[in-house]
Amino acid sequence: MALIVQKFGGTSVGTTERIKAVAGRIAAFKAAGHQLVVVVSAMSGETNRLIALAKEVQTEPDPREFDVVVSTGEQVAIGLLCMALLERGVKARSYTGGQVSILTDSSHTKARIRKIDEERMRADLAEGRLVVVAGFQGVDAEGNVTTLGRGGSDTTAVALAAALKADECQIYTDVDGVYTTDPRIVPEARRLKSVTFEEMLEMASLGSKILQIRSVEFAGKYKVRLRVLSSFQEQGEGTLITFEEDTKMEDALISGIAFNRDEAKITVMGVPDRPGIAYAILGPIGDANIDVDMIIQNAGVDGLTDLSFTVHRNEYQKALDVLNLKVKDHIKAADIRGDHKICKVSMVGVGMRTHAGIASQMFRTLAEEGINIQMISTSEIKISVVIDEKYMELAVRALHKAFGLDQPT
Ligand code: ADP
Ligand code: ASP
Ligand code: MG
Repeated sequence: MALIVQKFGGTSVGTTERIKAVAGRIAAFKAAGHQLVVVVSAMSGETNRLIALAKEVQTEPDPREFDVVVSTGEQVAIGLLCMALLERGVKARSYTGGQVSILTDSSHTKARIRKIDEERMRADLAEGRLVVVAGFQGVDAEGNVTTLGRGGSDTTAVALAAALKADECQIYTDVDGVYTTDPRIVPEARRLKSVTFEEMLEMASLGSKILQIRSVEFAGKYKVRLRVLSSFQEQGEGTLITFEEDTKMEDALISGIAFNRDEAKITVMGVPDRPGIAYAILGPIGDANIDVDMIIQNAGVDGLTDLSFTVHRNEYQKALDVLNLKVKDHIKAADIRGDHKICKVSMVGVGMRTHAGIASQMFRTLAEEGINIQMISTSEIKISVVIDEKYMELAVRALHKAFGLDQPT
């Protein structure tokens, strides 16, 4: 008998028919003798609807009340799923994040899980009951409802699996695993049988929305066995996130391509090329709580240089305001320019560690398509470029083909 945490995403429980189908699937698992804790997201579209409602009433919604509103989608889903299970004669109970005591910090809309009290779940499991928990939500030490950020149900599932020391955490979604890239952009993308934890962490942080990054971080920290599977297919092994590079079943240099449209680029032009200039520009940005991703500074000409960096698109205007108000005159910059129509395309693979030439092949492929590279950043297992947003799909498809990701290995 295994203890398994299963998470079903929004599309998997998108209609009452789908909820009944999921109940059938869970019931079969339980009948096979497993203990199950199930995490569900809100029905698809529901969280977006709730966010829109909140913004209709308050343009900049109060974070505490925002969480009260947007967390309700999951509560509906857990109740409906339990009803579908009870209807089948399966003993089940639903719990909100607060009820099973998923304790978080107080950063509303992006709270972090601090502690989970698994007693209540254990008691239900011992009595042969299936436990259904609302994803995406928790409570802080004062009992305020918090949410974990978009896609946060993945993190709830992995955190529960860690707390319960489950044998496996299974993320059921609308694709049958992690693919070489988003199959919505490249239909030839292939499912990976396995992907290393490090690669998954990079892919999630570079924009692959298949798993919320924090869920991957949790899996790494607590060594949770994590698998991504389809809730629409009866069979299939999905994709296993592995911790051992050696046991990786596929030997490709590149495992996947990720992309992200959520960034914007800012360039501070004609600043004196002297010590302290990066701090003078990025210090105030940091003080304004704006996260910076890529940074490049050019070599100086005539004692002047340019410095470019990227920020989340939501914080683009705020960053420009900070620079114009607090930085521009102070450091005597010639100009501040911004571009919010950029995107970041990244190639990820542990195979890069041992192979040179990947970067040059990437740059050649983009050059052949006439795509200008604006920024580059690399780490041991990834290369990212910033390009014009309008070439994103072309770049991803060209790279996918050039690196043979559409070919079976
Ligand atoms: P859920 O509602 O189940 O959480 P999501 O929409 O959050 O589902 O995540 C599944 C989607 O992630 C897929 O439909 C797919 O379009 C997208 N996706 C992005 N990158 C990848 C990838 N590398 N492999 C598979 N799916 C990906
Ligand atoms: N319902 C939340 C969202 O849409 C959480 C999730 O689906 O994981 O972001
Ligand atoms: Mg998701």
